[in-house]
Amino acid sequence: MADDKKGNGNGMAAPAVNGRAYPIVDHEYDVVVVGAGGAGLRATFGMAAKGLRTACVSKLFPTRSHTVAAQGGVSAALGNMGEDDWRWHMYDTVKGSDWLGDQDAIEYMCREASPAIIELEHYGMPFSRTADGKIYQRPFGGMTTNYGEGTAQRTCAAADRTGHAMLHTLYQQAIKHDAEFFIEYFGIDLLMNPDDGSCQGVMAWNLDDGTIHRFKAQTVVLATGGYGRAYFSCTGAHTQTGDGNGMVARAGLPLQDMEFIQFHPTGVYGAGVLITEGARGEGGYLTNSEGERFMERYAPSAKDLASRDVVSRAMTLEIREGRGVGPESDHIHLHLEHLDPKILHERLPGISESARIFAGVDVTKEPIPVLPTVHYNMGGVPANMHGEVVTRKNGNIETVPGLMSIGENASVSVHGANRLGSNSLLDLVVFGRSAANQAEKIITPGASHKPIADDAADFALDRLDAARHSKGDQPVAALRLEMQKTMQQYCAVFRTDETLGEGVEEMNKVWAKKDGTGVNDRSMIWNSDLAEALELDNLLYQAQVSINSANNRKESRGAHAHEDYPDRDDENWMKHTLMWCGADGKTKSDYRPVVLQPLSNEVQSFPPKKRVY
Ligand SMILES: Cc1cc2nc3c(=O)[nH]c(=O)nc-3n(C[C@H](O)[C@H](O)[C@H](O)COP(=O)(O)OP(=O)(O)OC[C@H]3O[C@@H](n4cnc5c(N)ncnc54)[C@H](O)[C@@H]3O)c2cc1C
Repeated sequence: MADDKKGNGNGMAAPAVNGRAYPIVDHEYDVVVVGAGGAGLRATFGMAAKGLRTACVSKLFPTRSHTVAAQGGVSAALGNMGEDDWRWHMYDTVKGSDWLGDQDAIEYMCREASPAIIELEHYGMPFSRTADGKIYQRPFGGMTTNYGEGTAQRTCAAADRTGHAMLHTLYQQAIKHDAEFFIEYFGIDLLMNPDDGSCQGVMAWNLDDGTIHRFKAQTVVLATGGYGRAYFSCTGAHTQTGDGNGMVARAGLPLQDMEFIQFHPTGVYGAGVLITEGARGEGGYLTNSEGERFMERYAPSAKDLASRDVVSRAMTLEIREGRGVGPESDHIHLHLEHLDPKILHERLPGISESARIFAGVDVTKEPIPVLPTVHYNMGGVPANMHGEVVTRKNGNIETVPGLMSIGENASVSVHGANRLGSNSLLDLVVFGRSAANQAEKIITPGASHKPIADDAADFALDRLDAARHSKGDQPVAALRLEMQKTMQQYCAVFRTDETLGEGVEEMNKVWAKKDGTGVNDRSMIWNSDLAEALELDNLLYQAQVSINSANNRKESRGAHAHEDYPDRDDENWMKHTLMWCGADGKTKSDYRPVVLQPLSNEVQSFPPKKRVY
């Protein structure tokens, strides 16, 4: 029997399960948020502020979450540096999404953007300022005025460290509001009620002392971020393993639109580290081996500030056609050396440093070698604009009681087939807040919890135990690398029936090797080998769903560029993919319609049209 070592007055030791030595420490909360990035923190203190007993469980110390690495900024039509309107922002987001985004949710996000930014300002977020003291705003890809006519300056920035400024601001608020934190606790699996399909809590492993914790909650909020690490080269942290998506898939629920994976045009060649789009926003541009500013050919009006999918494809085509730079003609140059060094120092200090460290380049003198790199997952857990998770049940789309998802973990879907830069940080605060508002409506503080089945924890503990005692001769890192290379090769910027078909076969082979992995360290305290085994399991579910969803979608839309079907096919494919993945790795798919109707009558629906920049 274990005592509640954290002494929060809430823990109760329960008997060991399955005769194994995993004593469980029990906790009861109104809400348990899994994840302490921007989305998780905004939801955590929002819920605590509404009088709900809220716990935040995070495998990382909150300010180490990937949000800290966000550079360029957060969008909102404040109009501080030129005329702007939330309807223009909405139009840009619908167009950026290649008409796969739901227009009601997009209206909600763009309309709520300005109040959300002002709220952050009042919380003390240190934004960069204009000469007259307003929040500084820079141009970003796909952000326009007057429904595509001009360039908008809409992206609010704190130099090129906006995520850092935002995450620290949100963490301060969370501390102020007395939310309880369980830091360096690894969420393993959800506690699902087999009778009514509701979620009743989550199981977690305290990495620091090896204890196992059962968090019972009226609602669990998944805010575990993206799964960039399913790929070999990505701009995200090594911890971006999409654990919430893995938990949802294992709970028998679908994932949505997982074929849409954003490649950022400017990852540092070789290292994958990001150079923000803000670099092009401040006047940077791309060239090929002939020194040509090739984006003028692909996007005559927006040029280097076309949306990310468009720029990444153009770069890939230039390289393919032999106009890449470097000894192997396999990358592209990003120029900043024509910009005033003072501007670089003030507005892009972080990327100047990254370029020096990771590419050995002085940005005031020479171009940065860059390559499209996996950056963001448009897909995730299907959720409505109140943060509630939805699924297909008896032919209808219904909410899953007791389960929410927000941030990069969720697919609301405001980003559709392609996210515009600076719309993610916005998504975090807007939907973190709306989840808190909804929780206030649907949860009675302190209400008693439904009893949970005695064996409810077994599912999580069986998985943990199997991984811990796995004796295969394949190290976790080796299988992870195989998966990452498979995804990088077969599910890349451009796709064909042939590459995707082969990719599905290859991923099945990778999946089949899951049981052959072995963990050497059997301890429970800071066993990173075991944590990585659990993360790999999560990644494998997501890789399977991503590549199978991509293989099914016979059109090109946003980030899904299918060479055998180069056009968007609204008649057959304007719909969200829902895909389930079983414990055997087999997938099953279904679809749900895109919402074209906005929320209010203050704006009209934007009917689909060809997307040109
Ligand atoms: C380099 C980089 C630059 C970016 N720049 C911008 C930008 O300028 N503007 C913009 O809008 N977007 C940007 N993005 C995208 C944006 O930063 C992310 O989409 C966003 O920060 C994700 O936030 P999140 O709260 O959903 O998740 P994260 O910040 O990734 O946090 C995930 C949280 O979940 C926790 N967690 C995960 N798994 C578990 C588990 N099993 N158990 C317990 N806890 C768990 C982690 O501890 C962490 O606290 C950038 C992304 C990158 C990678």
